[in-house]
Amino acid sequence: MNNMENLYRQVIMDHYKNPRHKGLVNDEHYHTSHIKNPTCGDDITIQSRVEDGIVKDIRHEGTGCSICCSSASVMSEVLVGKTVEEAEKILETYLNMLTNKEYDEEVELEDAIAYQGVSKFPARIKCASIAWKAFEDTLKESE
Ligand code: ZN
Repeated sequence: MNNMENLYRQVIMDHYKNPRHKGLVNDEHYHTSHIKNPTCGDDITIQSRVEDGIVKDIRHEGTGCSICCSSASVMSEVLVGKTVEEAEKILETYLNMLTNKEYDEEVELEDAIAYQGVSKFPARIKCASIAWKAFEDTLKESE
C-alpha cells in the first residue's frame, strides 16, 4: 500500500467510526431519499435541505459496509455549504471517477477523492455511490 492509499484508507475509517451529520431530522424543509444495495446489505437514507440555491444541510442514517456508511459522512462534509450547481458538478465528477469514466480533474473533490481506489473494485462501486445517488434524488425533489 502506498502513502496515498494509506491516507485515503484513514479518511474512510475515520468517517466510518466518527460519522458526521448522522441522524435524520423531522423537518418539512428536508427532502428524503432511501436507497438499498442488496448485494452488500447497504441501506441508506439521505435528507437534504436546500435554501436560496445553497445546500444548507445533509443528514444520513443507515446501515452497511464501511465504504457505504463513510461515504455518506464524507459527502455531507464536502457538499454542505456548496451551491446546488457546485454540488451537482462535484456529484457528477465523483460518480465518473468511481465508474472509470473521464472526469474533470479540476473539480475539487476534497475528501471524496479518498474513494478513487474503489473504481478498481467493481463490486464496491455501488457501495461508494448510493449515498451520493440518494442525495441526487433529494436535489431533484427540491427543484
Ligand atoms: Zn457496501
